[in-house]
Amino acid sequence: MITAVFAQRKDALVERAVGPFTVRMTADRARTQVAIIGAGPAGLLLSHLLEREGVESVVVETRSREYVEARIRAGILESSTVELLDAVGLGERLHREGFEHRGIYLQWPGERHHLDFVDLVGRGVTVYGQTQVTKDLGRARDAAGQEFRYEVEDTQLHDLTTEHPYVTFTTGEGRPARIDADVVVGCDGSFGPSRTSVPASAARTWERTYPYSWLGVLADVAPSTDELIYAWHPDGFALHSMRSSTVSRLYLQVPPETDVADWPDDRIWAALGQRLGQGQGGWRLTPGPISEKSVLPMRSFVLAPMQYGRLFLAGDAAHIVPPTGAKGLNLAVADVALLAPALGRLLTTKDETLAEAYSESALRRVWRCTHFSWWMTTMLHTSGDPFDAQLQRSQLEWVARSEAGATGLAENYAGLPIGY
Ligand SMILES: Cc1cc2nc3c(=O)[nH]c(=O)nc-3n(C[C@H](O)[C@H](O)[C@H](O)COP(=O)(O)OP(=O)(O)OC[C@H]3O[C@@H](n4cnc5c(N)ncnc54)[C@H](O)[C@@H]3O)c2cc1C
Repeated sequence: MITAVFAQRKDALVERAVGPFTVRMTADRARTQVAIIGAGPAGLLLSHLLEREGVESVVVETRSREYVEARIRAGILESSTVELLDAVGLGERLHREGFEHRGIYLQWPGERHHLDFVDLVGRGVTVYGQTQVTKDLGRARDAAGQEFRYEVEDTQLHDLTTEHPYVTFTTGEGRPARIDADVVVGCDGSFGPSRTSVPASAARTWERTYPYSWLGVLADVAPSTDELIYAWHPDGFALHSMRSSTVSRLYLQVPPETDVADWPDDRIWAALGQRLGQGQGGWRLTPGPISEKSVLPMRSFVLAPMQYGRLFLAGDAAHIVPPTGAKGLNLAVADVALLAPALGRLLTTKDETLAEAYSESALRRVWRCTHFSWWMTTMLHTSGDPFDAQLQRSQLEWVARSEAGATGLAENYAGLPIGY
């Protein structure tokens, strides 16, 4: 083995393989209290909440900031998410530009029912895109002088079962880097390295892959509805959502492995019109230019516990839900709302009580949302089995016609209180 030494500071040396050589280079080395991996909603909000606990953090992100802020994903905020964002000074633009919705429409061929969550459970939801939440968080963190490392590669987690864990990565400029911390938090979504840093012997996982995907489109056209439409149809599920008064977000149930190239715009609008009930009661779907198309696989996944030594997991890094219940973003927010005070207590007073309780407390809500997302998904997506279709119709009618059924959906959809 040939070793080249590029630095004198022994403690800062990092070994890297470069072709046949092992090269030692000076690491760009920093120290913080909490190293956060991932600048999605979970990571950004955690850094914001930790600052309020008097705890310093560094956020490490593999993508560019522009990419993260433009990534089209969720857009429905539960009332408890809005309350939390309000409480930490992030609600101003949300209230100005977001849309408060009292409920949703539930429909199947020939029938459309409005479920009024405010009447049923006293709270509704707010339509405000994840892109906007991410931008608001980014601005707030800039104002607070948050340290970010964007466009890093090869993120790795080390010594997680000690009190001195650290994270290594390669910076955007190609330099090896290391961040020493008291705690590492994995907010790096379903494909990040945090989840896989937990040995199989230290955690249990549960998984369900659904036999369908969503084709999601973003269209530059005013929504054709005042509130979301969830439509059961023999051809497959469809959802009419929105992001603003000029941008609609629409989804179609499609087979897994669907290629977006097989779905030109005309085919998408025709299928949406058919499944959403074009002409039903005089209702019309207005088509418009489609600016984004993607296929989203439908999966449920939970990893427990959400802690391994000094590594804590939050958001999609620990659990995935199919988007039918609009829970992914809200769960990420609920996780970090529990985790920030727990880490604050751990790092400022060395009291471990809340940190030790984090996983169990978070998982109570995670499993509730996992069940609700599965329930909505299996009620609304067609399997091709005529017996399933009859059961789905019966369940839809019960939810739409029974106050108990409607209240159960409303309570879960509008969201349970933080700390449920
Ligand atoms: C493709 C996709 C589409 C979705 N669409 C919808 C939708 O239409 N409706 C809906 O309700 N919900 C949707 N969701 C769910 C919702 O957006 C997520 O639940 C939410 O983003 C979770 O936030 P998070 O911060 O936990 O994870 P993420 O938002 O995934 O953030 C994780 C961050 O970690 C970064 N990262 C990954 N690997 C590394 C690494 N090695 N080093 C450093 N950083 C890393 C990622 O780049 C990312 O910025 C979607 C999710 C996905 C993945």
